[in-house]
Amino acid sequence: MSRSSSLPERPRLDLDPDMSQDERLEALREHFVELVRVQDQLEEQLDSAQERQDDLTTQVDRLERENDTLKSSSLYVATAEELTDEGVIVKQHGNNQEVLTEVSPTLREDLEAGDRVAINDSFSVQTILDPETDARAQAMEIDDSPTVLYEDIGGLDEQIREVREAVEQPLINAEQFAEVGVEPPSGVLLHGPPGTGKTMLAKAVANQTDATFIKMAGSELVRKFIGEGARLVRDLFELASEREPAVIFIDEIDAIAAKRTESKTSGDAEVQRTMMQLLSEMDGFEERGEIRIIAATNRFDMLDRAILRPGRFDRLIEVPNPDWDGRKRILEIHTREMAINDDVEMATLANETEGFSGAELASLATEAGMFAIRDDRTEVHMADFENALEKVNDEDETTGQPIAFA
Ligand code: ATP
Repeated sequence: MSRSSSLPERPRLDLDPDMSQDERLEALREHFVELVRVQDQLEEQLDSAQERQDDLTTQVDRLERENDTLKSSSLYVATAEELTDEGVIVKQHGNNQEVLTEVSPTLREDLEAGDRVAINDSFSVQTILDPETDARAQAMEIDDSPTVLYEDIGGLDEQIREVREAVEQPLINAEQFAEVGVEPPSGVLLHGPPGTGKTMLAKAVANQTDATFIKMAGSELVRKFIGEGARLVRDLFELASEREPAVIFIDEIDAIAAKRTESKTSGDAEVQRTMMQLLSEMDGFEERGEIRIIAATNRFDMLDRAILRPGRFDRLIEVPNPDWDGRKRILEIHTREMAINDDVEMATLANETEGFSGAELASLATEAGMFAIRDDRTEVHMADFENALEKVNDEDETTGQPIAFA
């Protein structure tokens, strides 16, 4: 490791009492020049020390993260094939390695041949897993007929138009696309802050096209055991082809498609495998027929550019927080079914809610309704909205957190 260069010597000023006035002035001038030179040198050294400190801090951060990952040891999925007197024969998923391994007496009591288990690096059985169907169900949300309509979504007219063109048209007019010889976009990526209507957009397309809506969260995929993520992605596409037409919605795609890091831990390798599986499913997409895929992220900056290549998520649609018109429209949508007094002015509320997301505006309407109920009224007044706004702003200030609603 290089050490910083030594400090420059401190300049000295020796003034001979016999010096003339001019000589003194000259000596002082020279001393001043010398001081400035030393100061420049010191500043340079300070800059490079600071740079070095930044580098080291980054290194420490990375090592700490790697350390944490290594400490939380990975588990692998396997099937208990046979229970013998010497132990259990397990077959690890992914590489199909068969091993005779030990299992604690308490686990052994509940274990049956054919069960899925989690094993550690030394193949010792750690837990018995839920049946596979449960794992599928836990990771995916399946909705045969979502009820969201385009008109339920406020302030996103341009985004709705783009999604309809990229997802709805190819589903409804597959033959026309084939005849014209135009390839519809493989995947659509919606990106923008939380709670702005990305999931709603995907559900509305599924509704409009009578497609099954299948949602999977990227974070769910990586939280599973080693070998499980890629398998779940395969399951996801398999399920979609069983339920054609289908819209696959992968939320938080950044969890599996973040930029590659240098670390080589098994957790990272697992995320990579999951993403590779997703890309290969997308690459073999044309033969799949009536399945469209939409992904969403709040962290566009973190995405690995590999997933944005042509043939993958090649249609990017930004879904920002609503502007004034959007906020007014969203408030109107969420108060449609509410008994609203004539004194409520949506335009004023739109003025007062700059920076609010769609989800926050929806909660504001609910909160205003709660104020009316607490006051034993059946109509919501402007004052209820003002109270709700005040409450939200207070909470926001005290917690310093993004606005949270009850
Ligand atoms: P996240 O990134 O956190 O997953 P999202 O962008 O997918 O969020 P949604 O789940 O679509 O957001 O929105 C959450 C809720 O907020 C919706 O159920 C709806 O009540 C309300 N909402 C958000 N955006 C809009 C909008 N543009 N118009 C009407 N309601 C909206």
